[in-house]
Parts: sequence; structure tokens; C-alpha cells
Amino acid sequence: MPKNFDPPLSDTSAPDTAETLLALLHAQAEVARLSERERLFSSLLESVNAALWAFDWETRQVLYVSPAYERIFGRSAALVMADYCEWRDAVYPDDLAYAEQSLADVLVSGAVEDREYRIINAAGEVRWLSDKCFLKQTREGDQRVIIVGIAEDITEKKQLESELQRLATIDVLTQSSNRRHFFECAHQAFEDACADDTPLSFLLLDIDDFKQINDSYGHQEGDQVLQRIADSGKNALRRGDLFGRIGGEEFAAVFPGCTAEAAQQIAQRLQREIQRLSFSHGQQVYRVTVSQGLTDRTQNDELLDSLFARADEAMYQAKRQGKNQIVQG
Ligand code: GH3
Ligand code: MG
Ligand code: MG
Repeated sequence: MPKNFDPPLSDTSAPDTAETLLALLHAQAEVARLSERERLFSSLLESVNAALWAFDWETRQVLYVSPAYERIFGRSAALVMADYCEWRDAVYPDDLAYAEQSLADVLVSGAVEDREYRIINAAGEVRWLSDKCFLKQTREGDQRVIIVGIAEDITEKKQLESELQRLATIDVLTQSSNRRHFFECAHQAFEDACADDTPLSFLLLDIDDFKQINDSYGHQEGDQVLQRIADSGKNALRRGDLFGRIGGEEFAAVFPGCTAEAAQQIAQRLQREIQRLSFSHGQQVYRVTVSQGLTDRTQNDELLDSLFARADEAMYQAKRQGKNQIVQG
């Protein structure tokens, strides 16, 4: 072989070209795979009804918000990424201290998942958010403190919760407190009165001959009587008084801070108001009366039950004495 013999170019360049081509094809396939994944993530983020976000704690910069941010807040994503005060300005003023404190708490606990606060969206509506946040694990050497979060609009869920709460405490027919809720509040009021040594009065009210109303005019008519008696009861109350339907045609009231004389006046006013009510069923016009048993707290009463028992006894005495009257027990 001659000295300085160079092999023909084609001999070595052929494998090189093939390798380059192969690498290029691989790279193209990888780009296609990544763009497909990017499209998948984008469509996922687009369809998820919660805003994902990332926040740089030190620089106070919103690094990312997903498309749902604009739907939930009704504000521009670009603006909040330019200035984090955009988020602060949207938070309902009473909730701002909590929203900021719970964000700071994530630095200590690593995650705050029960974070709920209100915002005012661009349309001026108050909306409830569940805004969970987590401390992001950064790579070694990365000094940044990044918090990531997921904010979901839970307004409808909140409304449902408060409606369920309301339904659990009221009597649906008369829209007054149900028996359980009334006695829960009454026990609390009684304990407060004992602790402060302030007066407290307890009233029981039972509709007279109610069965006859049902029997004469039907159950539905009876229901309307219950509703109107309950309205009269509620109208007689002062702020802080309690009123509830504790049985079929039996109601009770608690008057905290009210002496026996003042409670007697309220009961008399209620008695007159009910006597004045006029009911009609077809051509028939009729009236309804009630019997009331009234008592007030004494130093010897250790339980609300003692007042309840005295008021009950007084109410039955009113029945025995001819109904349509108030008896003090
Ligand atoms: P008194 O004067 O002694 O209190 O007699 P009363 O007829 O009012 O009392 P009684 O206990 O004999 O009857 C109460 C009736 O109340 C019987 C029951 O069918 C009726 N009642 C209970 N709950 C409801 C209700 O939700 N709607 C209607 N329409 N009636 C009810
Ligand atoms: Mg009755
Ligand atoms: Mg009764």
C-alpha cells in the first residue's frame, strides 16, 4: 500500500451519514412525541376546572397559571404573572389575612390542603375557592422556594353545604327551628344565663283543638294554620330570642335576659295577635286559639329541663282551665 494512502471518502462517510440521519429521525420522533405530550397537557389543563399555579416565594412572582385562572377569576393570566398584587386585589377583603397567612404556612408544613377563601371575580360576584398549596421540591443547588397550588371554585358546593346545614336545623313546614336545634340553642342560652346570673324565660305554646281543624278542613288546611301561628311566634320575638316547633302543634320560645313580667307581656301580645288571626276554608271563616305555659329561671334551676317541665305543667293547667290562656308556672 502506498504511503499516505487516504481511503476513499465514501468508505467512511457512509456510516457517518447514516448515523446522522438516524439521529435526526430520532430527534424528529422525540420532538413529535414531546409536542403530542404538550398538546395532551394543554388540553388537560384547558378542560380541568381548577387553576394550577406556581409562585416564587422570594421574588413574589407568579410563574405560571393555567387557563382556568381566567375562567375562575375573570382576570387576565398575563396580568397576575406580571404582578402578584392582582391576586391579592381579587381576594375578598375579610379573607385576605387568612389567604396570605395560609400561603406562608406552607413553608413550615410543606402542604396546606384545607385552604378556603373568597374572591371577588371580575363580574363583582363573591366566589368561594378551595386553594390547596404545596412546597415544590426543587433540584439540588436550586435555591428558589417555589409554591405550587390548585385552586378550584367551590361556590356551589358551599351553597349546598349551607343549605344542608339550614335544612338540618329548621322545620321545613314552618321555617322555624326544629326541635333538636331549638333545644341545642336553648341549652346554650340557659348555660349562659346561669354563668352570668341573668334572667331567662321559657315559653310553651300548644294550639287548642288542632285535631278538629284537621278533621274539619283537612290536613293541608292544618298545615297552613301551623305556618301562620309560627309566623306570629317569630314576629313576637326580640333579637336574640329563640323560637322553634318542638312537636306537631307545639312551639317553644326562650327569652334570654327577660324577666317574668317582660315575658308575660310578650306572651300576652302573642296571644292577642293569634286571637285576631282569621282563617278561611271555602265559605267557612274560623279562628284559632292557643294555650301557653310560661316560666322563668330561678336560682334553684340547675337544668333547662326544670324550666321545660314547669312550662309544660303550666301549659296543661291552661288546657284544664278552659284553653285560650296563659298560665305562669
Ligand atoms: P288540645 O287542645 O288539647 O291541644 O287538643 P289538640 O286537638 O290540639 O291536640 P291533639 O294532641 O289531640 O291533636 C294534635 C293533632 O295535630 C293530631 C295530629 O294529627 C296533628 N298534627 C301533628 N303534626 C301535624 C302536621 O304537621 N300537620 C297537620 N296538619 N297536623 C298535624
Ligand atoms: Mg293542641
Ligand atoms: Mg299538643
